[in-house]
Amino acid sequence: MSNPSNSLTRVDALVIGAGAAGLFYAARAGEAGLRVLVVDHAAKPAEKVRISGGGRCNFTNIHTRPEAFLSQNPHFARSALARFTPEDFTARLARHGIGWHEKTLGQLFCDGRSAAIIDMLVGELHASGGEMRLETRVGAIARSADGFLVETSGGKIEAGRLIVASGGLSIPKMGATGLAYDIARQFGHEVVTPRPALVPFVFEGREKEDFASISGVACPVRAGFDGASFDEAMLFTHRGLSGPAILQISSYWREGGEVRLDLLAGQNAAEALIAFKAESPRKSLLSALETLLPNRLVALLAARGDLPAFERMADMSHASIHALCKALSDWGVLPAGTEGWRTAEVTLGGIDTAALSSRTMESRLVPGLYFIGECVDVTGWLGGYNFQWAWASAHAAALG
Ligand SMILES: Cc1cc2nc3c(=O)[nH]c(=O)nc-3n(C[C@H](O)[C@H](O)[C@H](O)COP(=O)(O)OP(=O)(O)OC[C@H]3O[C@@H](n4cnc5c(N)ncnc54)[C@H](O)[C@@H]3O)c2cc1C
Repeated sequence: MSNPSNSLTRVDALVIGAGAAGLFYAARAGEAGLRVLVVDHAAKPAEKVRISGGGRCNFTNIHTRPEAFLSQNPHFARSALARFTPEDFTARLARHGIGWHEKTLGQLFCDGRSAAIIDMLVGELHASGGEMRLETRVGAIARSADGFLVETSGGKIEAGRLIVASGGLSIPKMGATGLAYDIARQFGHEVVTPRPALVPFVFEGREKEDFASISGVACPVRAGFDGASFDEAMLFTHRGLSGPAILQISSYWREGGEVRLDLLAGQNAAEALIAFKAESPRKSLLSALETLLPNRLVALLAARGDLPAFERMADMSHASIHALCKALSDWGVLPAGTEGWRTAEVTLGGIDTAALSSRTMESRLVPGLYFIGECVDVTGWLGGYNFQWAWASAHAAALG
């Protein structure tokens, strides 16, 4: 597989995108006996693996199940996820001597840097006889007698199979492009409108000022929208709200909708306030609430007029305590929008699964054309689910 500029390279499988899915596919297909070439326009492979999980790559989640993925067809991911599990991935890490640990909620992280995973992916690609060409731009793609003819800045490539693994639109600064969607449309596939997901909310006006005033404050909440809800931490920021609970619910949120926040999630708040009143009747409602919520948040709620004006807990009836707890358990906030592609961790939507085989990820319209990883309309929750989809969809495409 030499690479002079005007040459024609022939391979069994051409993979576009040297990210998590593309590299994992390439090694599996190489091990199965295919001659594989991976091209990528970036200077380095798998940059998102490198920066993921704060540099330690949250590479899977032991609670992986189809319900943790959003798609217009919620059943699509089932088959691939069942045939390549988190245990399959950790067994592979063990063979490479890569240590890992569980953080919370089933999230598995490397003990060391995420570079260990990139080294494993690239090492396996080379060990299986595959080749990778970086800083290679992809041009026109056409059908040929034997499959596909792809023009690149490194010459023409003819391939029996074309595997599109060029990801979604999140973080353009890292080289994300809509190439996968363009290829899909070229070959007659529908694309479910891509939307930024796992992304912080921004606010305008009074709420923006209020939230900015306590930027840095975090508390556990239940964030809900349209029947979905997540119990995790929320963080106030200069622009609005972030933290895992907010990132999770952002994947479900639609413009113009209020997000419901239970600020007292997981606490028996009414009981705690009634006990506080019995013990310290002369203390204020604010001091009582400070036992349940961060002080700066309590002060903000008071300044916003979200709390009743009782001087002393003694003056507060049980009914008012229950009413207050109800209000704080269902605090509605109206985001003006999200931070968008600049910071979104993933892309919701993507290549419509209706015309893809759930067993092999192959196009039902164009034999030999495959879509894997984030470019497909399968989006995982926060916490390692998106990498598990990258591995599982790549495995399905390589081994059917
Ligand atoms: C900051 C951040 C942190 C994350 N943390 C986690 C985490 O801890 N756990 C988790 O499960 N998920 C995480 N994700 C999501 C995860 O990184 C992605 O879901 C995953 O990388 C998708 O894999 P992929 O191979 O489909 O696409 P990508 O990893 O995006 O790879 C696509 C590749 O295609 C290349 N490409 C794009 N366009 C072109 C083009 N036009 N020509 C040639 N090549 C092209 C890109 O350069 C890239 O190398 C995180 C994402 C971000 C942004």
